[in-house]
Amino acid sequence: MKTLIKNVNVLLPDGTTPLTNLCIDGDRISHIGEVPDDFRPGHVLDGHDMLATPGFVNAHTHASMTLLRSYADDMELMDWLNKMIWPAEARMNREDIYWGAMLAALEMIQTGTTSFADMYGPWMDAVAEVVSDSGLRGVLSRGLIGVAPDAEEKLAEGVSFYRDFHGMANDRIHVMLSPHAPYTCPPDYMKKVAAAAQKDGIKIHIHMHETKTEINDSLKAYGRRPFAWVSETGLFDGGATVAAHCVHMDDEDIVIMQKYDIRAVHNPGSNMKLASGVAPVPKMLSEGICVALGTDGASSNNNMDMLEEMALSAILHKVDAYDPLAVPALTSVKLATEYGAKALSLADVGRLEVGAKADIVLFSMKGSKWTPRNNLVSLLAYSANSSSVDTVIVDGSILMEHKELKTLDEERILFEAQRSARHLTNA
Ligand SMILES: [Zn+2]
Repeated sequence: MKTLIKNVNVLLPDGTTPLTNLCIDGDRISHIGEVPDDFRPGHVLDGHDMLATPGFVNAHTHASMTLLRSYADDMELMDWLNKMIWPAEARMNREDIYWGAMLAALEMIQTGTTSFADMYGPWMDAVAEVVSDSGLRGVLSRGLIGVAPDAEEKLAEGVSFYRDFHGMANDRIHVMLSPHAPYTCPPDYMKKVAAAAQKDGIKIHIHMHETKTEINDSLKAYGRRPFAWVSETGLFDGGATVAAHCVHMDDEDIVIMQKYDIRAVHNPGSNMKLASGVAPVPKMLSEGICVALGTDGASSNNNMDMLEEMALSAILHKVDAYDPLAVPALTSVKLATEYGAKALSLADVGRLEVGAKADIVLFSMKGSKWTPRNNLVSLLAYSANSSSVDTVIVDGSILMEHKELKTLDEERILFEAQRSARHLTNA
């Protein structure tokens, strides 16, 4: 299938936005510029008044937790987990996991996300089904709680999930292993996860240094900060670990991230709402660490809208550093696209250039939020909201065209998600 997007402003990796044409051949961008004479598109999209951007990469979320959106808000993290979230999650069945992830997929497509990294479970095969059916790109992992009585079985389940699903759906499904966090996975368990991951070459996705309490408890239990002791278990030895949060960081933590090429996922909405703190994003970027952007679960955000995270990342660090130059507009866009893809080890994703995967969002620039058009990157980062997401393409396939969903049944998803949420929260 060949698609031509003609007369469209294209956001290029250098931040320029020329008015040009974009050709898609199969799952990749084949040309940007003059349309070759022999390019015969099966489908043509009129790009007039549109900005084409790389699809957003939500590098840390828990998709099925959308079912718990607005169920438990304004609580301490551990109270929130122990009293509300974990008991509701214990009632989840496979249907709930599926419809929760479907609700997330619906919201992601409607808000311009094309790739997401999901840590959840059980029944991650249901989330793989959602990725396959929706057309999205997913980096999925079974969350592992090392202190649970069935921790060993869950690790085996995580490895089988990798063997069964990694590379499926034209390589739109990738699988990682996810020890949940240093405070739920003791050193011996981390060592087992590390050994299992390295045997199969599986990458790691973990929560790190989210709260002050996590750091203090680790100092009490092990006399070390989590990054220090986890690095000694071998968990980071396979490289390219995805570490969500990285809020409370000292110089030694940053040296460990550099040594093991660990990627940080910044979740400003979740960190602000749970009052976790402000991650040192400008410092990590200046130290050469890859920083991506995520929403975290919709029960701590409370949505999956990456444009909001972009705006938050661009604004939060300015006030935190008293520096209006901290995290400029283009950097915030890159956190949500190019750096997200790099963090998740997704090759040829996150940049609009010839040869890259055709994961593209078209924003309609009609209307007040996009007027006047002095600087399209600035409008995207600071002014636009996701109501201007018009068309979404993943792997060359159109998932939404002029707001019409091509792969999902919105009415059914909303109905089933509401029904699932009732049985989780009314017990
Ligand atoms: Zn999380």
